[in-house]
Amino acid sequence: MRRLLSHHAAIPALRSKHAAVQAGFGGEQELDKVFEGYAFTMKHGIFHDLSLASSAYFQVDTLFITPWYAVLFEVKNIAGELTVTENLPQLIRTLDSGQVSGFKSPIAQLESNCELFRDWLYSRNMSLPVYGAVVLAYARQRIEVFDTKIPILFPSAVPTFIRKLPTTSPLLDDKTFVDLLSQLSSSHRDFIPSPICETYSIRRSDIRTGVICPGCGVIGMEKYNGGWRCLACAKTSRDAHKRAIRDWFLLFGGGMSNKDCREFLRVNRQQTAHRLIMSMQLKSEGTYRNRVYTMELLSERKKRT
Ligand SMILES: [Zn+2]
Repeated sequence: MRRLLSHHAAIPALRSKHAAVQAGFGGEQELDKVFEGYAFTMKHGIFHDLSLASSAYFQVDTLFITPWYAVLFEVKNIAGELTVTENLPQLIRTLDSGQVSGFKSPIAQLESNCELFRDWLYSRNMSLPVYGAVVLAYARQRIEVFDTKIPILFPSAVPTFIRKLPTTSPLLDDKTFVDLLSQLSSSHRDFIPSPICETYSIRRSDIRTGVICPGCGVIGMEKYNGGWRCLACAKTSRDAHKRAIRDWFLLFGGGMSNKDCREFLRVNRQQTAHRLIMSMQLKSEGTYRNRVYTMELLSERKKRT
């Protein structure tokens, strides 16, 4: 959003996605607290932010797994009055101000994730009942839902929900269960997001280039020997280019050439761009003239267990 003009057509979609991501993140932490504070007596494993692939890639906010069953939790933390619709699967949010926005239906998403997880187990010759539950992170949320088998819970109700699930004879023996837990850990793939410009159909030429001032947010810091200088507020920075280079990878994806770097950071000299690229841990591919650099986008993401 900082790199688009304020009237750009993609802004509303980006703003709504940003709000949804912020909301999901706060919500997952609420559920983590419940799992941390509750001692389950049965054998189990808990995985957060799990990304797996079966017939398609899918992401699970929280997976609770036992030798008897698996539960996939989808966490929502969206303020306002919520309505989940069935035929056009959507989550509609109405704020007190009257503003209405649409999100993906958590129920449709869970049903699809449960199906994909069943496939994942099946391809490993395992079979377990797979349940799904939507968790509303904060008790002040109100929600209206069509008739569905998928429960909608507040975090405090999660332990009771889990205790009530049937645990007659275990379906997996000890060895298979331990093996399953280690397969889940090793199958996790860091989620590689599609380039923003591709996802939101933004033309490359609509993206404003330049290094953004960490002080005042104005775009187009000027390079000088010691680093970067803002022409608007006079702030200097030694490493403001790092954020810009990361922006480039998030926006366009793929490999960055020296020329791409020069254009995006607005520097003239090839050697300067080379030095800036070298200041970051990027992988390089190709020989001198065709060399491009790539970035592991989620390498610094906080790993949760
Ligand atoms: Zn500034």
